[in-house]
Amino acid sequence: MTLSNEASSLAKALADAVTGPVLQPEDSGFTEELASFQLALRHQPDVVVGARDASDVRTVLRLAGEHGVPVTVHNTGHGMRHAADGGVLLALRRLNGVHVDPAARTARVQGGATWRDVMEAAAPHGLIPPSGSMGSVGAVGYTLSGGISLLARSDGWASDLVRSFTVVTEVGVEREVGPDDAGLFAGLRGSGPVDGLVVTGMTIGLLPEGALQGGGLTFDIGTTGTDGDPAVLHAFREWTTAGLPDELTSTLRVMSFPDLDYLPPKLRGRRIARIAVALRGTKEEADGLVAPLRGIARPIEDSLAPMRFADYARVHAEPDNPGPYIGENLLVDSLDPTALESLARLTGPTMVIMNIRHLGGALARPPAVPDTVVGRDARYLLAAVAPVDPCVSVSHPAAAWEQSNPGWALEPFAAAAVGASPGFTVGPRTRS
Ligand SMILES: Cc1cc2nc3c(=O)[nH]c(=O)nc-3n(C[C@H](O)[C@H](O)[C@H](O)COP(=O)(O)OP(=O)(O)OC[C@H]3O[C@@H](n4cnc5c(N)ncnc54)[C@H](O)[C@@H]3O)c2cc1C
Repeated sequence: MTLSNEASSLAKALADAVTGPVLQPEDSGFTEELASFQLALRHQPDVVVGARDASDVRTVLRLAGEHGVPVTVHNTGHGMRHAADGGVLLALRRLNGVHVDPAARTARVQGGATWRDVMEAAAPHGLIPPSGSMGSVGAVGYTLSGGISLLARSDGWASDLVRSFTVVTEVGVEREVGPDDAGLFAGLRGSGPVDGLVVTGMTIGLLPEGALQGGGLTFDIGTTGTDGDPAVLHAFREWTTAGLPDELTSTLRVMSFPDLDYLPPKLRGRRIARIAVALRGTKEEADGLVAPLRGIARPIEDSLAPMRFADYARVHAEPDNPGPYIGENLLVDSLDPTALESLARLTGPTMVIMNIRHLGGALARPPAVPDTVVGRDARYLLAAVAPVDPCVSVSHPAAAWEQSNPGWALEPFAAAAVGASPGFTVGPRTRS
């Protein structure tokens, strides 16, 4: 690959000025810097810089601006939507420091830290962060889109807990952004990344761990390729509309497994409905609250039990390994029973995994200072995910979008739509 003159002279200037690695495509370690949870897209920058500190971030933005070269910010790649085509990739994963102030119950989190980094730093103090289903997600990237945590109905949006951000502007200038800077502070709390700004740190409130119950109830609802039994789906709707306490947060996942012999016999060729449950409370309270679900049918898995927050992965039971996927979502104010029936059939042009997160509770409370969260009034978030063929998507993302867009599975729910969450719109798509 021949670099443009600008990129080549920028790479030299960067190598002299930053402490982190500055790599070009022919350099060893270049590909490792691009590592991403999302495999359907591949960044192809002219230069990648692995920032080691905030000073590296300032230098990259200042020098790239002076050379007229675009900068793409990359952390874990969970939320990747477009691949960089040339320019500088600013990789944040080394910027993963976390400092906990146990007296103030806050964490100072660097821009590339994952929620796992924050959890590990907070745990010795009996504190937990507002993290979600997966520890490998970037804490800042998640919070910029609001952030729906494992205990969201009890603890609210992650962005509600932010005290301040440290950002670096397009011209490489660092500034603190807090409630006194109301417009920008609101813009950074809920509507996704802000163009031209890199967050090098945020101070965020932590919560007491307390007594927790968590796990999932999995039901077999039929054979893949034939109509499934919607009883569990209707039961979830009734259960979540019957006045559950805010301490209980739950998610219904519906998916159909192909008849492939590497799958466990219980899942092979089966339609599955799984209700993930996380509760701030006692085992007795959890057992009482889920009794109506346990009464629908015998679950093929029932893992709901007392848990430490470190065992968060038991709740959503999602595989934490990279893959190629497209995610689309809809925020709705109710679940239409007829639309739910379509989920029990879930037969369309592409395979889809549907997650229905129950919102409300603390998520519906007004923020202490203005923000830009999308979905504060919504009752459910429907997140549809479809696997993608990376052989197509890496070179032709728009074709992959045409082939695998999971939006068809959301259409039956469109009449109740109140918006879409920026954090759950991920993977290749057309730029329009
Ligand atoms: C498997 C999976 C599980 C998820 N679970 C949840 C969940 O439980 N709750 C929830 O609310 N969301 C969840 N999400 C959504 C997730 O929060 C978003 O995709 C989020 O954008 C990921 O941020 P990231 O930094 O990890 O990813 P990246 O793809 O690295 O970044 C996402 C975007 O944020 C920008 N960005 C990241 N860091 C910074 C920074 N420091 N400064 C400026 N811009 C930055 C990037 O440039 C990019 O545009 C999940 C996503 C996946 C794939």
